[in-house]
Amino acid sequence: MNNVPEAFGSMVFNETVMQQRLPRDVYKAMKKTISEGKKLDISIANIVANTMKDWAIEKGATHFTHWFQPMTGITAEKHDSFISPSVGGTVIMEFSGKELVKGESDASSFPSGGLRATFEARGYTAWDPTSYAFIKDNSLYIPTAFCSYSGEVLDKKTPLLRSMEALSKQAVRILRLFGNDEVTSVNSTVGPEQEYFLVDRELYNKRKDLQFTGRTLIGAKPPKGQELEDHYFGSIKPRVTAYMKELDEELWKLGIYAKTKHNEVAPGQHELAPIFTTTNIATDHNQLTMEVMKKIARKHGLACLLHEKPFNCVNGSGKHNNWSITTNTGINLLEPGETPYENAQFLLFLCAVIKAVDEYQDLLRISVASAGNDHRLGSNEAPPAIISMFLGTELSGILDSIENGTSYDGKEKEQLKIGVHVLPRFFRDTTDRNRTSPFAFTGNKFEFRMLGSSDSIACTNIMINTAVAEELCGFADILENADNFTEACDSLIKKTIKDHKRIIFDGNGYDDAWIKEAVEVRGLHNLEATPDALEHFIDQSNIDLFKKHKVYNELEVYSRYEILIENYSKVINIEALTLGEMVEKDILPAVSKYSKFLSDSIISKRAVLPTLKCTFEEDTIRKIDSLSDKLYTELHKLYNTLEEIKSISHKLEIAKHYKNCILPIMSSIREASDGLELIIAKEYWPYPTYADLLFSVN
Ligand code: ADP
Ligand code: MG
Repeated sequence: MNNVPEAFGSMVFNETVMQQRLPRDVYKAMKKTISEGKKLDISIANIVANTMKDWAIEKGATHFTHWFQPMTGITAEKHDSFISPSVGGTVIMEFSGKELVKGESDASSFPSGGLRATFEARGYTAWDPTSYAFIKDNSLYIPTAFCSYSGEVLDKKTPLLRSMEALSKQAVRILRLFGNDEVTSVNSTVGPEQEYFLVDRELYNKRKDLQFTGRTLIGAKPPKGQELEDHYFGSIKPRVTAYMKELDEELWKLGIYAKTKHNEVAPGQHELAPIFTTTNIATDHNQLTMEVMKKIARKHGLACLLHEKPFNCVNGSGKHNNWSITTNTGINLLEPGETPYENAQFLLFLCAVIKAVDEYQDLLRISVASAGNDHRLGSNEAPPAIISMFLGTELSGILDSIENGTSYDGKEKEQLKIGVHVLPRFFRDTTDRNRTSPFAFTGNKFEFRMLGSSDSIACTNIMINTAVAEELCGFADILENADNFTEACDSLIKKTIKDHKRIIFDGNGYDDAWIKEAVEVRGLHNLEATPDALEHFIDQSNIDLFKKHKVYNELEVYSRYEILIENYSKVINIEALTLGEMVEKDILPAVSKYSKFLSDSIISKRAVLPTLKCTFEEDTIRKIDSLSDKLYTELHKLYNTLEEIKSISHKLEIAKHYKNCILPIMSSIREASDGLELIIAKEYWPYPTYADLLFSVN
């Protein structure tokens, strides 16, 4: 790619294209729709659709698709061609406003968590004009929301848009109190950093576990892992460089701001970070990024692994959700300001986030809960399952002095007064980032680090936006009725710090002592595994929150809860069956063959010299026998337990059974299998090893 600025967004029907191609009044109406959510008149939609189609055909498109994000966590699409029959057996290319604005889709094969039973199976997709249409694989992609005919949402985008609206509404109320009459809306912005692994495709194809479950279910520790710390930010190997180059180019064409790329901690692990943008667009772009990552990998003879824990002995992969709030006039509300008044505003928004994270710890934990991410959280490579916040020493010090009415750092003569003094500026530049903290303030944004690498970022941002909206709403209720705004604001900030400082922790989150303190002294949640976390989704306080801000109705909360809990059980069930099949069909037969080879070898050796000891062969046969015996016994335990689970009907109970009974059996199967892998000759072992996989890409 020679000219990046020219190629950037070349496949996107963005504002520049709209301005160039749409008639002036249509463009204006379209802009209003994008910025204010105004409904498009059908006559205007017709013109937009036709222009989009002409543009798309010039770029080689033959089809269009309503692209949506059902509860599967990935995106869905159904393609229709533009063709329409014409005279004499010919066709013309057509695309109407009606087709652009709304699509029909059979909702019955997507997860709906009980909504399906009560409602019609039909669903529809509605155009989201705030996210640009684009062309991929010769189709025009139209980003859409997905609902059932009775109006219940069946996707991740609708609640995300609703949560952004809720946040905007409440933030504007606060800004009005600070005398800002200019701002009409507020957007949350996100920059998601994405980790991934690359392995050689041929090796990947030989591992059923990677193919079916995305992670290795067995695999002995290789002689070298990540202990030398020689991969992080290391020079990038030629095959990976070629991959990353093409990935960047494809993403740029789609208007995605791919910015940073580097090697991560584990061998074979890498990261891509885009420049932040509006949350719903960042969400669309992150879904696209994950898809394109996989597609380009295939072209390079590679497989891109997005699972949270593909390999046991090295770090897993996560996603960092960098989040902030920005006004439509371009002010970042989490950026400390220049004047005392701006500082008071910054502190109030900061307090809203602190209170939100403390009061809705469970929702944040739930937003990253999955069978895959459970292998990562709390295992000394990712934040623990406990939610806490890191503000940095300086900002924590400032909050302390505000709370106690003392002078900041002892050097200042006067105590820091909100609305009177300017905050000390130096903390903005401090870079002592605490990498062990789940929710860290990084100067002008918060970085939430608990997301799994395969997660859609929608869920996390729905939770953050809604919880912060709720706290801002509470603040606005108080301040709008206050006689003296400055005093009320001052005492509100003090009270919030006092009531919620237990969530602030600047120490090492990986430390066992922290877990004890967090739970026993501070009373924070420690929701270790997905089923423990998910049960809180349907707590009344959470349902009330979503209802109040019109993000989910009660039914929608229940449906999501059910989908998530079922998904957890299904994932582990697939893993258990895959592991069973690998052991039965490949590992045990291979082990027998090797034992036979050893026995034959003893026989033939002794035929020559009857007194030979054959210690190696005999010892190995014995070890193999003991390990394969364990493997076989555990395998049957696995099958029996899977059978037992079938008689349980309560969904949460089922999930807990998978966690408490199936996972431990899978672990002991793995232990026996990994023991065998270490003693069996390489040519007999049926799978590529960790060493093969992790160091396969050069
Ligand atoms: P790190 O040290 O964690 O890699 P960076 O400064 O490189 O941090 O930023 C990480 C991500 O944060 C990038 O995607 C960046 O675009 C994003 N980011 C920066 N400012 C904001 C903001 N105001 N809102 C949301 N994301 C932001
Ligand atoms: Mg980061």
